[in-house]
Amino acid sequence: MEQLDVIIVGGGPIGIACGLEAHKKGLNYVIIEKGPIVNSLFHYPANMQFFSSSEKLEIDEIPFISTEAKPKRDEALEYYRRIVTSNKLHIRLFEKVESIIKADQGFQVQTTKHRYTVSNVVIATGFYDIPNTINVPGEALEKVSHYYNNPHYYAGQKLAVVGASNSAIDAALECYRKGAEVSLIIRGPEVGQRVKYWVRPDIINRIKEGSIKAYYNSTVKEITQEEILINTSEGTINLENDFVLALTGYTPNFKFLQHLGVTLSDDKKRLPQYNLETMESNVAGLYLAGVICGGMETHKWFIENSRVHAKMIMKNIITGVKNTKN
Ligand SMILES: Cc1cc2nc3c(=O)[nH]c(=O)nc-3n(C[C@H](O)[C@H](O)[C@H](O)COP(=O)(O)OP(=O)(O)OC[C@H]3O[C@@H](n4cnc5c(N)ncnc54)[C@H](O)[C@@H]3O)c2cc1C
Repeated sequence: MEQLDVIIVGGGPIGIACGLEAHKKGLNYVIIEKGPIVNSLFHYPANMQFFSSSEKLEIDEIPFISTEAKPKRDEALEYYRRIVTSNKLHIRLFEKVESIIKADQGFQVQTTKHRYTVSNVVIATGFYDIPNTINVPGEALEKVSHYYNNPHYYAGQKLAVVGASNSAIDAALECYRKGAEVSLIIRGPEVGQRVKYWVRPDIINRIKEGSIKAYYNSTVKEITQEEILINTSEGTINLENDFVLALTGYTPNFKFLQHLGVTLSDDKKRLPQYNLETMESNVAGLYLAGVICGGMETHKWFIENSRVHAKMIMKNIITGVKNTKN
């Protein structure tokens, strides 16, 4: 079996950036993606608008043209898809990496479809697969979701949105504007400070005027088929409820990283260990790229600031490949 130079696990924006860089450097590479191209973005809300302007989401300075300065999700799908197709990147879609085992010379990568032998692996699996659960009775009911797609679904319904960051606030506003009766359940005393600067005044004003009811310093106690019970500073409140959107963030797959032998910090940040210049983890030949590098600090790395990982990683890998050949 032919030994590849590098496998990139994850075909998100950063996995694609890594694939493009490997392609340009003439490396023998494959990107393995368990869903469609940029699977996470494909599952973002249908009307979502990035907080970054389009040039900040560009890979390798390939122009990203969008109608407004800040692109919409569909424009990003178009952009990243065109990078894959026009560069004929080697990407295997709907193929999941199940295990990676360190071998004498590199790694054995087992997917749902193949076994590969490879010298280097880049983990660019992001954080969007595992939602932070709220761990209350009723969370498993069908009416509860940790992902939001389209406001139309909630028109005329009593909707509770749990969370105070961008995803929760965008969903609350959109659904209110499409005719849902929205209650926001916020653990802290205010709407999150990282909410997009042009959206924050909008939600604050909707709350002030009473269009959206906000429960601050409140947590969910229980969800039933007809109600949601909330712990507030004035005691438990029962609200009539049809749907719950628990948009409380997402977590990288730490189990997967640990299975690979990547050391995580002991504190609650669970930061993976890697070299800041090369992005190589404590496991030789295993690299980390993109949002996964931030551990629990999922806001630390995003497309804008992690697209540089691709060049850092491939520069190091090509040096290793050349040294082996000489
Ligand atoms: C609503 C929202 C808005 C955002 N807006 C912005 C913004 O404006 N600007 C910005 O810079 N960032 C933004 N971000 C963050 C940004 O989307 C992420 O940082 C970015 O997607 C990270 O790219 P990535 O390639 O590291 O991970 P991801 O895009 O999550 O890609 C990881 C990929 O790995 C795949 N995968 C996972 N496990 C496996 C496996 N075992 N085998 C094979 N494939 C696997 C997944 O299917 C996925 O496609 C936003 C995020 C959200 C949720």
